[in-house]
Amino acid sequence: MTHTAARNLMMTDMPTSPDQLPCGFIAIIGRPNVGKSTLMNCILGQKISITSRKPQTTRHRIQGIKSTTQAQMIFVDTPGLHHGGKRTMNRLMNRAAIDSISDVDVILFVIEAGQWTEEDQSILERLQDIHVPVILLLNKIDKVDNKSELLPQIEKLSAQTRFTEIMPLSARRGDNVEHLEHSVQKLLPLSLPLYPQDQVTDRSERFIAAELVREKLMRRLGQELPYALAVEIEEFVEEGRMLKIGALIWVERDSQKAIVIGKGGAGLKAIGKQARIDMENIFGRKVFLQLWVKVKDKWADDERALRGLGYSE
Ligand code: GDP
Ligand code: MG
Repeated sequence: MTHTAARNLMMTDMPTSPDQLPCGFIAIIGRPNVGKSTLMNCILGQKISITSRKPQTTRHRIQGIKSTTQAQMIFVDTPGLHHGGKRTMNRLMNRAAIDSISDVDVILFVIEAGQWTEEDQSILERLQDIHVPVILLLNKIDKVDNKSELLPQIEKLSAQTRFTEIMPLSARRGDNVEHLEHSVQKLLPLSLPLYPQDQVTDRSERFIAAELVREKLMRRLGQELPYALAVEIEEFVEEGRMLKIGALIWVERDSQKAIVIGKGGAGLKAIGKQARIDMENIFGRKVFLQLWVKVKDKWADDERALRGLGYSE
């Protein structure tokens, strides 16, 4: 189902009310390393809301939602558009990848300020066929000493292509990001919020933490993933400027526990590291994460054996 169809469906399900806001789907695209993830984290900040149930109503994986009283911005993943190096370009030619961004409301095309590579060019060429507003972002301007050096690049690109806007910014420092948000909101259609406006509470942060651990487990284990696996946040406390998070991974059998832990604890360690990095980005704080694996029935035995599997870096 397309986003438009999803929106229509949700509109008819909801009572009519005057509380319409700019609400819509946003794709952030660009070659690897230009700063797409940094930008999304910067925009979402604490306002991230990860949807546990992957919505069946859209073709996209939702990466994050920013709900404010002004708007609802739903950031979607664009598989095949920003993973890998040269090969990405082959996949770019892929109809499916193009389709996946054809029905978003806004595309943010990120490049590195002062640079223009073949890969950037390929992405630009594919965008010509897509009738969605595109904002071109020249990221990492904090690395450019003389900002006027960017003017020829901006002029050249704007002469070449119909961008809705060309904007220099720094995702890392947050420079111009608020301005970007305003521009995006102006391009979103009005509707009732498409997703619940999850308040940022301690509870939702706990939920996000559990989801991140689950996501990493799923990514690492794939088919091997024990079917009955649950993640429970046992500890979630602020210690100074740091968050101390303890998570229990519940499995049903010893064999499953071994799979999750991996050789010499390597599996669990990798999962923990990836989850911690994401948590630090999302929560904007240093995180001390401890993971434990427990078998549901005999958890008391396991506790002693697994003490020490938690780690920090
Ligand atoms: P992605 O592959 O496009 O998602 O890129 P990332 O968001 O992972 O960023 C790649 C690298 O560029 C990371 O080391 C970021 O810290 C860095 N980076 C991102 N945005 C900026 C920025 O505005 N300024 C600087 N100096 N570095 C940035
Ligand atoms: Mg990224």
